[in-house]
Amino acid sequence: MDSLDRFSNRFLIEGEIELKTPMRIGGGQNAAMYSLSPSPVIECYDAGSGTFEPYIPGSSLKGVLRSTLERLVRTFDVSQCCVCTGDRNEGAVLCGKESCISCRLFGSKNGGAKVRIRDSHLTEECRTTKDRSAFLREQPHFGSPGGGKGRMRPEESVSAGTAFRFHIDLDNGTEEEVGLILLSLREFNNNRAHLGGGSTRGHGFCRVKRYSVKKLWLKDGALSNEKVSGKDCMSAAKRYLAGLNGSSDNERGFDRYWRAFSGPVDRFDDGHVVAMLKVTCLTEFSMKGLDETTVTNGLGPVIPGSTIKGFLRHKLEERETDRTSMNSIFGGKDHRGRLIVSDAWYDGKKEIGNEKIPRNSELRMFMVFDNMTKDEMDYVTDLFDLEVQITGNTSAGVTRNSHDNAKNKVKMHVEDVKRFSAREYLAE
Ligand SMILES: [Zn+2]
Ligand SMILES: [Zn+2]
Repeated sequence: MDSLDRFSNRFLIEGEIELKTPMRIGGGQNAAMYSLSPSPVIECYDAGSGTFEPYIPGSSLKGVLRSTLERLVRTFDVSQCCVCTGDRNEGAVLCGKESCISCRLFGSKNGGAKVRIRDSHLTEECRTTKDRSAFLREQPHFGSPGGGKGRMRPEESVSAGTAFRFHIDLDNGTEEEVGLILLSLREFNNNRAHLGGGSTRGHGFCRVKRYSVKKLWLKDGALSNEKVSGKDCMSAAKRYLAGLNGSSDNERGFDRYWRAFSGPVDRFDDGHVVAMLKVTCLTEFSMKGLDETTVTNGLGPVIPGSTIKGFLRHKLEERETDRTSMNSIFGGKDHRGRLIVSDAWYDGKKEIGNEKIPRNSELRMFMVFDNMTKDEMDYVTDLFDLEVQITGNTSAGVTRNSHDNAKNKVKMHVEDVKRFSAREYLAE
């Protein structure tokens, strides 16, 4: 049992985080002592099973929840909290003011955090999966932007489908504060927040499932507890957001959702847009993975997000798209790109094995246009609903004599678009 002398009340938020795309939380050379990967994910030793298992360090979840909360709150009023992470050029100085919701909850040099987050370990369901390859996978990906011709290098990641149990404590908090934490967690489900590294390559899309909130307090020396409605907490938090002044709609930093107070909803237009796409294989698709015929993410074959992004970059360069737009979309030396492309995963009912993705298969993928202009989006969306060859000629099997039976031709089609609108967000 946790010690009880530090709080007059404590909220306990628990639930599961399930990965929708692979996740990478790297830990350097000592991350996984025995892993053969040159770029392993962080793991811990489970004495019970005698194996190493991936986990989400409390500090990682705390970091992303903090920046997600800041982004939400600053969309409605920048004066309500400072920026811990975000654009590098803004500098990360924690203000430590009592009025700062972020410093109050997550801590600063002036005071400890009211929120504490434990390491999240595999759910019982995942832990009893004996096959290690079901949740760990080495995946090749293209070198970082600016690295010239894309060269594959292997990188370990935790597979889509893997689930972790999280545990968050909030000491001496209010239902409104619980609500802000829940709204931040829900940004995972809205595909606007991502866990771990490599998010511009589409890593770390996830969803929060089966969560519960409990309140504990001491009364006459005895511990009481009751279940709390998460919905009520989120409503309280939204009332707080709705009462704020609103922010300038002109700043395009990642510390807020741009143009949240203007423009149309659910359309490609200036702002923050999440799109779900259907990728149809017009020919068979295969691309050499590390030790397999085509790349998989543990559950089935995929077209890696980095491959699709590499294709888009190549195509836009071919069309002589201007430098400024290219840098904004794909990133540069000192700033990340605004376009996020996930793996396209097989979404059909029929088993297709790991060898290749057959012709006519349907895949699904996320694209996030993070505070992009309509013009920047148009460069990308112009390539939708066309027959395109998504890999280089070698992978596609194109030779001088056989242009016609080349592989790896796909068509990308938008199924769903969601543009962040403050009005709609508060009404949801
Ligand atoms: Zn602050
Ligand atoms: Zn606890």
